[in-house]
This record gives sequence, structure tokens and C-alpha cells, in this order.
Amino acid sequence: MRCPFCQSDDTKVLDTRLIDDGSQVRRRRECTSCGERYSTREMVDLNLPRLIKSDDSRETFNEEKLRSGLLKALEKRPVKTSQIETSLQRIKHKLMTRSEREVPSSKIGEWVMEELKALDEVAYIRFASVYRQFQDIEAFKNEIEKLMRK
Ligand SMILES: [Zn+2]
Repeated sequence: MRCPFCQSDDTKVLDTRLIDDGSQVRRRRECTSCGERYSTREMVDLNLPRLIKSDDSRETFNEEKLRSGLLKALEKRPVKTSQIETSLQRIKHKLMTRSEREVPSSKIGEWVMEELKALDEVAYIRFASVYRQFQDIEAFKNEIEKLMRK
């Protein structure tokens, strides 16, 4: 953490304590160059980016909506709930670790497709056919053939 007084990068932590019921950490620091003391605060940064829809409107990320989309594609398929949760967490993690404040919802669609592809091919085709809105039966056939080749 750069010293606000002399801009040196070298500081030492004198004290660390939890504040605000443990939701924040406050550190007392001392600059090893100029000797000034100051405090820093850390908190978990869980601001999920907003989604940019295809019509350019913005929407808050909704975990429930994502879950129900996955469940719908996986309906009556032999996939464990715990596997679905793991996929969901992976998608959320990708979203949280992106630095952009806004992410196209199509990006999430791609991640969902990646997850479904690994979980269950039938579910993948189900989702892809709705999501990619295959123009005709030919496009749909191509997608299936691509899967078969693997
Ligand atoms: Zn300093």
C-alpha cells in the first residue's frame, strides 16, 4: 500500500483488527521511509457487474434466474444437484473476478453453454437451441455433429 505522504511503496503493518462486526479489516500502517502512520480498510468486494442485455438495457445479475435456467435445461437429466451448484458457483466466480462493471449477458450465456457441455450433452443442446435460436434445422444439425465428433 503506497504511503499517502511520501508515495513510498514500503510500509509495515503495526496492527490489524476487525471492525463493523468483522465485515471489515482495519490495518494501522507505518511508512518505513517517512515514518508517518495511517490506516487502511479492507472489505470484501462482491459487487457483481451488471448485465448488458441484447436490447442494450441493463439488468442486475440474478442468481435465481441463472439457477432456474440451468435447472430447466437439465430437467429429468441424470445430473446431481451438487454438480449443478458447482457449475453455478463457477459461473458466478467468473463474473465476480471480471474487472468490468458491466458484462454482456451473452457472455454468461457462453459460460452456461460451457458448463452444460461438460455436464450433459442433451441439456447443452436444449439450452443452445433456445439460446442460439438456431435459424433452421441445418444449423441445429451442425451443432449436433460438432458434438458427435468429439
Ligand atoms: Zn511515507
